[in-house]
Amino acid sequence: MDWIRLTKSGKDLTGLKGRLIEVTEEELKKHNKKDDCWICIRGFVYNVSPYMEYHPGGEDELMRAAGSDGTELFDQVHRWVNYESMLKECLVGRMAVKPAVLKDYREEEKKVLNVKGGIKYGIQHSTSDVFSPVTSCNLDPGPYKIGTHLHIYIFSCLFLWAYLSLCGMLPKSQVTDTLAKEGPNYPSYDWFQTDSLVTIAIYTKQKDINLDSIIVDRQDDSFRAETIIKDCLYLIHIGLSREVQEDFSVRVIESVGKIEIVLKKKENTSWNFLGHPLENHHSLIPRKDTGLYYRKCQLISKEDVTHDTRLFCLMLPPSTHLQVPIGQHVYLKLSITGTEIVKPYTPVSGSLFSEFKEPVLPNNKYIYFLIKIYPTGLFTPELDRLQIGDFVSMSSPEGTFKISEFQELEDLFLLAAGTGFTPMVKILNYALTDIPTLRKVKLMFFNKTEDDIIWRSQLEKLAFKDKRLDVEFVLSAPTSEWNGKQGHISPALLSEFLKRNLDKSRVLVCICGPVPFTEQGIRLLHDLNFSKNEIHSFTA
Ligand code: FAD
Ligand code: NAD
Repeated sequence: MDWIRLTKSGKDLTGLKGRLIEVTEEELKKHNKKDDCWICIRGFVYNVSPYMEYHPGGEDELMRAAGSDGTELFDQVHRWVNYESMLKECLVGRMAVKPAVLKDYREEEKKVLNVKGGIKYGIQHSTSDVFSPVTSCNLDPGPYKIGTHLHIYIFSCLFLWAYLSLCGMLPKSQVTDTLAKEGPNYPSYDWFQTDSLVTIAIYTKQKDINLDSIIVDRQDDSFRAETIIKDCLYLIHIGLSREVQEDFSVRVIESVGKIEIVLKKKENTSWNFLGHPLENHHSLIPRKDTGLYYRKCQLISKEDVTHDTRLFCLMLPPSTHLQVPIGQHVYLKLSITGTEIVKPYTPVSGSLFSEFKEPVLPNNKYIYFLIKIYPTGLFTPELDRLQIGDFVSMSSPEGTFKISEFQELEDLFLLAAGTGFTPMVKILNYALTDIPTLRKVKLMFFNKTEDDIIWRSQLEKLAFKDKRLDVEFVLSAPTSEWNGKQGHISPALLSEFLKRNLDKSRVLVCICGPVPFTEQGIRLLHDLNFSKNEIHSFTA
């Protein structure tokens, strides 16, 4: 808050009296001292000297990027932080473009991966850079771009293909390869229509695709579909040519890696073309290079869980399809006194029981969060002030946890501290319902006091109901009445708790909590001979 106040004070934080300049690499290198420190992030240069004392990670951490391109370092530590908003008063200008780097960029383009402009590539992609002519044919009104005959020909092919593939008669590759931007493995898309529906089909050319892999957002005429393909995102981004209704359906044909998004037309008329391409349309982008996309969600309910932790329920917009995979988090964004503040949160289920009875519906619109309110914190008091019906922006999911870590799992150990319990909620739910090989789940839940324990009675009921689950509470600041386990995470606590059923049993230990807790836990787990593959730690 002190930093935000300083940025609003009208003080000249760059020393350039409001001017923006073009910065050469040579110039950037000169500003490498604490009291004169410039850093480049994604092609924009900031004077971070006034920010030094406010940086949560300390001055030395910032100095690691002094006088250089800090994009990679920034991405490693906190890619999600909204530096554009936090540092807007520190903006010196953008990096000067070197003509020579254009060649590198074109080389990159050949690999068909989009990387946002920055020192490395020197220029920002423009939309026209990323379209192959063939894709344009698919989107644009043919007669303006190509000959009418060709247009009719392609349209007929598409129609024929759509018809035949619906009948299961035509090999998939026949049309998708024609539309592919580059190479047979590049994802592609296609569209077809009936009187009332428009179907956009995405061919991922991967088999491990499911409903979690696709995120669709439609706002007015903008249609955006992100498909997660391994470490990349395949983006379809189109300004639709005609109006559609709010809701749509998404279907995944896992065996062939095909996704179908079915839009409902507002008017039953034939569309001549799907729409016009928008930024980064038909691109495969490494996930680490993509910005986070946010949509506005409405606060539906807020319920006390402990004295300082609440269960928030947010509703996705009707024209969004998004499912947060187990073990992943999202970012919530609020504007606090004019500065956009972003913090990560891990969605949970509405209760430990509800999902055991009723599985999540594919089009579930509600997303639940267990959030602890820190009275002196920056974000959570503001979140807590939201009224039912207010909006908060939510990003697409992120995280490194993969469901494949559960494969043939026999013993699952969960070490959670405070709100570090949040990723364990969906993990518990999944483990007890969907891992046939599972013998035992043990949760050790560390808190300061009994009053801090989230969902204590639900956990106890669940452990009573399902004999495979054991729950142990450990308190670091208990009252004299507490006769359970006490203290911080320690070798004594863990060696007693983490007993494998059999020497060779397939084991996973998940750990989440305050950073020192997690770091210490990982060290202790290694000392107890758990291998790297047997440990998953949750961090940002
Ligand atoms: P902050 O402003 O960060 O302050 C938190 C506390 O630290 C306050 O008591 C504050 O006074 C103190 N503090 C701040 N700065 C300093 C300082 N310089 N020196 C000393 N003390 C200081 N939290 C949840 O509740 N639920 C979740 O599901 C959840 N999921 C997460 C997922 C991930 C991947 C990560 C990394 C974190 C998650 N968190 C979760 C934590 C969450 O992101 C926030 O860190 C938390 O909500 C605090 O935010 P805040 O801005 O309100 O508090
Ligand atoms: P807290 O301060 O109430 O502490 C809970 C317990 O953590 C304590 O009782 C103690 O056993 C342990 N602990 C705390 N500090 C410790 C230390 N220095 N060394 C060893 N053990 C320690 O916890 P909280 O306020 O609920 O904070 C939860 C933390 O979990 C936050 O830092 C949050 O960012 C993190 N979190 C991370 C993720 C994630 O990465 N996916 C998800 C949720 C929460």
